[in-house]
Amino acid sequence: MATYKLARGASIPALAYGTGTYWYKRDKNAKLNRGLVDSIKLALTIGYRHIDTAEAYGTEEEVGVALKEFLEESDLQRNDIFVTTKVFETLPDVEKAINTSLRKLQLSYVDLYLIHAPFFKEGTELPKVWRQLEGLVQDGRAKAIGVSNFRVSDLEQLLAVAQIKPVANQVEFNPYLQQPEATAFNRHNGLLIESYSPLTSLVSKPGGPVDAVVDELAAQYGKSPAEVLLRWNLQKGNVIVTTSSKPERLREFLTTSEWRLTDAEVAQIDAAGQKLHFRKFWAKHFGES
Ligand code: NDP
Repeated sequence: MATYKLARGASIPALAYGTGTYWYKRDKNAKLNRGLVDSIKLALTIGYRHIDTAEAYGTEEEVGVALKEFLEESDLQRNDIFVTTKVFETLPDVEKAINTSLRKLQLSYVDLYLIHAPFFKEGTELPKVWRQLEGLVQDGRAKAIGVSNFRVSDLEQLLAVAQIKPVANQVEFNPYLQQPEATAFNRHNGLLIESYSPLTSLVSKPGGPVDAVVDELAAQYGKSPAEVLLRWNLQKGNVIVTTSSKPERLREFLTTSEWRLTDAEVAQIDAAGQKLHFRKFWAKHFGES
């Protein structure tokens, strides 16, 4: 799988196995989900090198167990795997949040630590939170820091105070949510886009205007519609954050960097996607529901 370079020099694998959504644990005290552990281990075994979690998902413990078992059973080392987690609920107490996350993950550092969303509860101030994240880079508990669901106005506020710049913004990104201005702003300021929910048009909004184009391209290339959607997202220059409980789909997604759409075909999906606007996550906070 392809990798990108982050602004501070590290490499980030372009495909992440997500442990939110389908795997999200409503009851944070629920016992270890062995199905998730095994699915992460399978993903690592077949070639995934990037795992995405968050304190909010309740899945850090599973990620920790899967990583530990996988590393014991393989020739790979901790630094071969890129681990992202996110902080939100515990804000503004970053110290408590990172210590809890690292304990659950059974790690001494994460590769990327993200502020999950800018929709803070009262009393949480972005400059103070960011200063604490910068401290994690300085003491080595986070190799890199970034944000998620940040709008241009949030980024402007952050960039005005950041001594260590955010390297990535994890946002919802699919043909029905292309956000060209926000994307340009992120790029211009050195933030890589991590695209979550890349399969929305297939999974949550079937029957929409991109389906015909995607189906036609899938037939033309002998790929599945999901593969076309992931490939489109990759060609936008984004890291893809997807997930599946199905081994065959996990295998299929891994081949995303092995083929290409033409620029005209990417533009065809762009144009069809622009006929519908749909946001699945945090919609109320974005003023869209
Ligand atoms: P996707 O849009 O990639 O959807 C993945 C889901 O699609 C899986 O549950 C999978 O189910 C299903 N799927 C895959 N292929 C098909 C198909 N051909 N037909 C029907 N269903 C299919 O991403 P998600 O929305 O699940 O998000 C991925 C990750 O992104 C999360 O786990 C999380 O890590 C991150 N995320 C981050 C957010 C943030 O605020 N920062 C918000 C939301 C997500 P199956 O198991 O059946 O294959």
